[in-house]
Amino acid sequence: MKPKMSGRSPSDLDTARQRLLQERQRLEQAMIEERVAAAPVQLDQSSVGRLTRMDAMQQQAMAQSMLARTERRLRMLDAALARISAGAYGLCCECGNEIEPERLAADPAVVFCSECGRRR
Ligand SMILES: [Zn+2]
Repeated sequence: MKPKMSGRSPSDLDTARQRLLQERQRLEQAMIEERVAAAPVQLDQSSVGRLTRMDAMQQQAMAQSMLARTERRLRMLDAALARISAGAYGLCCECGNEIEPERLAADPAVVFCSECGRRR
C-alpha cells in the first residue's frame, strides 16, 4: 500500500486540475484585456472619446486593481497546480489537515481548511 498523502482520489485530482487549468486559461485571456485597459491614460482626446480625462483615469485605476486581482488569483491557481504535482493537494497549508471536499468544490485553489480560513 502506498502511503496516503492527501486522501484525494486520482479522479478528484483530475477534476481539480482541469478546473484549475480552465480558470487559468480564462484568466490569462482576461489579463490581456486588463493589461490594455490598465495602461497609462492617453491624453489624446480622440482615443479617449467621450470620456473626460478624470473618467479615463478612474477606469484605468479600476483596471489596475482588476489586473492585480487577476494576477493574485493566477498565482493561487499555479500554487494549487504545484500542490497537485507534489501530492499535497487538498491539505490545509496551516494545520495540514484535509480541506473539506465541499470547500474544494467551491474553490479548487483554496489553501486553508474552514477552521484555519476562519481564523485568518
Ligand atoms: Zn487548517
